[in-house]
Amino acid sequence: MTDRRLYGEGHRILVTGGAGFVPSHLVDALLARGATVVAVDNFITGSKENVAHLAEHPRFTLVEADVSEPLPAHVAALAGRFDAIMHFASPASPTDFAQIPIEILRVGSVATLQLLDRALADRARFILASTSEAYGDPLVHPQPETYWGNVNPIGVRSVYDEAKRFSEAATMAYHRFHGLDVGIVRIFNTYGPRMRPDDGRAIPTFVSQALRGEPITVHGTGEQTRSICYVDDLVRGIVALLDSGETGPINCGTEHEMTMRELAETIVRLTGSSSQVTFVPRAADDPEKRRPDLTRARTLLGYEPTVGPEEGLRRTIDYFAGRA
Ligand code: NAD
Ligand code: UDP
Repeated sequence: MTDRRLYGEGHRILVTGGAGFVPSHLVDALLARGATVVAVDNFITGSKENVAHLAEHPRFTLVEADVSEPLPAHVAALAGRFDAIMHFASPASPTDFAQIPIEILRVGSVATLQLLDRALADRARFILASTSEAYGDPLVHPQPETYWGNVNPIGVRSVYDEAKRFSEAATMAYHRFHGLDVGIVRIFNTYGPRMRPDDGRAIPTFVSQALRGEPITVHGTGEQTRSICYVDDLVRGIVALLDSGETGPINCGTEHEMTMRELAETIVRLTGSSSQVTFVPRAADDPEKRRPDLTRARTLLGYEPTVGPEEGLRRTIDYFAGRA
């Protein structure tokens, strides 16, 4: 581990996409450490509700703005210097790739460049939320950070994959050319409370269907795999990366790899639902398998996920059931 420091009391941190699923949990963790946090969000896929519990928090500010537009300098909350800028704004569900492709491209390109410029001006540490999608439909398994990936540059997922790959390239260019302090985390499938029930991703979809007693819509044969990570584990990894001074990229997730058929069956069992598991057509370029090589995260960050899939899914089901 290099240059270890703790971001918390006395530090001002900008979190883009702060009203989203993962970033709102990150905001909670940063506030709990004593940091002052400004979240910027345009609510395209996030919700004010995810940070409603922070409305009266003295160290939290929520700014409604599109980070792909020039950041509104007149907003006082954005005027002072930031110690860290964490760029987490981006729609992330494959359903979004078809519905808001240009917005995804912009937030993973124009917005990234603007935020890197702001980090440079502020001498802030810049953390990029990248993704396992950078590996595309991987030909190497599990995926180490040294693998360059197998991405279809013109396919239906490319607006997301290539925007994140551009963001990584931009982040590394600012690091090499300007000496900017940066960290890149490649996030693998993460789930938990505050996901939107209708966001189209497998876990919220299956849980919502199971709670309503509707057929579970597994794509294809359901033999494709993902390795699922409970959000609290991921957030611990991200905060460790922030503190570490490491550049990365560093994978973050778990090795709990399972087929989508197993995932569907587990959710039906845990909800006690009468839903049937059904099979529907699968989208193009859907990755066959995905599991992170966590060696770097373990070695450089001391990262170890602690929440198993059944426990994490139970907590997520409780959240969705409580809101049904
Ligand atoms: P999310 O949609 O819940 O959160 C994204 C947030 O960004 C939302 O609140 C959205 O309104 C906001 N946003 C999007 N475009 C914006 C813009 N132009 N200006 C301001 N705000 C904007 O999704 P999430 O799953 O929490 O993902 C958060 C980040 O983590 C994303 O960058 C995503 O690519 C990355 N990631 C997530 C996963 C996962 O499994 N959840 C996996 C890999 C990477
Ligand atoms: N999936 C599915 N049914 C759904 C939604 C998703 O079978 O209703 C599958 C999807 O085809 C993919 C896997 O679940 O193989 C994970 O999809 P998700 O959208 O959650 O994440 P990503 O594809 O980004 O890994």
